[in-house]
Amino acid sequence: RTIGADLLATVARHAGREALVDCTSGRRWTYAQLKASVDDVALGLRRLGVTKGDRVGIWAPNCPEWVLLQYATARLGAILVTINPAYRTHELRYVLQQSGIRTLVATRAFKTSDYAAMIAETRDECPDLRDVVLIGEPSWTELTAPGGDPAVLDEIEATLGPDDPINIQYTSGTTGFPKGATLSHRNILNNGFLVGELIDYTEADRICIPVPFYHCFGMVMGNLAATSHGATMVIPAPGFDPGLTLRAVAAERCTSLYGVPTMFIAMLHHADFDTFDLSSLRTGIMAGSPCPVETMKQVIDRMGMTEVSICYGMTETSPVSCQTRTDDSLERRVATVGRAGPHLEVKVVDPQGATVPVGETGELCTRGYSVMLGYWEQPDKTAESIDADGWMHTGDLAVMDADGYLRITGRIKDLVIRGGENIYPREVEEFLLTHPDILDAQVIGVPDDKYGEEVMAWIRMKPATTPLDAASLRAFCSGKLAHYKIPRYVRIVDDFPMTVTGKVRKVEMREISTRDLS
Ligand code: ATP
Ligand code: MG
Repeated sequence: RTIGADLLATVARHAGREALVDCTSGRRWTYAQLKASVDDVALGLRRLGVTKGDRVGIWAPNCPEWVLLQYATARLGAILVTINPAYRTHELRYVLQQSGIRTLVATRAFKTSDYAAMIAETRDECPDLRDVVLIGEPSWTELTAPGGDPAVLDEIEATLGPDDPINIQYTSGTTGFPKGATLSHRNILNNGFLVGELIDYTEADRICIPVPFYHCFGMVMGNLAATSHGATMVIPAPGFDPGLTLRAVAAERCTSLYGVPTMFIAMLHHADFDTFDLSSLRTGIMAGSPCPVETMKQVIDRMGMTEVSICYGMTETSPVSCQTRTDDSLERRVATVGRAGPHLEVKVVDPQGATVPVGETGELCTRGYSVMLGYWEQPDKTAESIDADGWMHTGDLAVMDADGYLRITGRIKDLVIRGGENIYPREVEEFLLTHPDILDAQVIGVPDDKYGEEVMAWIRMKPATTPLDAASLRAFCSGKLAHYKIPRYVRIVDDFPMTVTGKVRKVEMREISTRDLS
């Protein structure tokens, strides 16, 4: 099935059910209304000359128009290129040029980003770019003006196939320059649907989506999971705001809530947390970076998300490849990323490519319907990541137990090697979080003349606590962590450098700390 065909099937079954709610503006769409709005946008794009295979960019924080464009491009078979809202002009230029965007839909401005100004700055350098449409402005009104015959969209639909590329998503850029993963209908529609199946979505579910749409966590695990089940998408705010998210859950009686671990931490520590009625919550997804056991427990106990699931994945695999099931034991649901998803294979290999024994660490590889078509116009990069047998090499370290449950122990690039000993930052971080005054901790390796690398902890303290110094932190660790894993340096910070997808940028932390120490 294609994404358009799937949407039409849902509209046929659930025409009168609520599809989309925007808490900022109070606007609401039923599935029948969503289809009508999507068709208007699709016909408008067609008037601009957009056809199958053309690249259409979207550069905006979460808003209903984003969702309309996602399905409108799918109806036309155009390839939606999702642009990170945090980008600056030079990154925008790269994406516009690299993917050859023909039509760009954007918000004029958000917070400190003046998107319109940045587009104007680089427009002349992007010969493929013909049209820029600004959401909520005359160009958008024109695009969405009713007119044209929706029947033509059904004719187009008949020419589309599930293996056509439908989306280019750039990776988060956590470890380097973002790469454009080209994804097909088959890739992302199946992933969204199956992720929803594993948390028992039905049309009665109302999913609060504070994670960015530009990333597959929002647009696949959120939007596609919702529409393929006839569930409701709730947009709490354009960017992540813990208070507005909690308020949206309470006001809209959401049954499911998404977030990366840092978002859940922010919500759990919100000053007014206890004033929100979260009793409607049943499930949700925590994913994107290591999920601390302690945070998982609080999400279950204090937010009532008893059926919450941890997912592991990457943009290149649509994204989810491992997921905890609701019937997994609590122990497994808080401490592992579950097992391979339906119709997917996983293996853990050593640097030579041989599968390692159960219980040993190696690189996680995944294979199946979810593996991207390739990096857009970067065949060498594709060949480096997907081997001849179709295995995607994730760059993540994992350990599998005898029942196939996986623990992600870090990224290969983040491993700290001190005096020949491998140190998994994750393990040290989990331990530091057991300190009563520590809110969040990140561990990196910094260059050291004697040992090659030394362990450094960046720490966020809980409010109204005394900042720890290196000596007191070492005393806390002493006897409980192997001596070589104990952080030599400590840096107390208010925040970590983050990507918009909520991942800690350890590359940047290493740069800053290396500079400070030298
Ligand atoms: P780039 O590839 O540009 O450096 P990125 O890898 O962060 O950025 P994404 O595709 O958004 O870009 O993220 C995928 C990565 O996120 C995975 O490879 C993994 O390192 C991490 N990740 C995702 N889910 C989890 C999880 N549940 N636990 C631990 N790590 C996770
Ligand atoms: Mg990556």
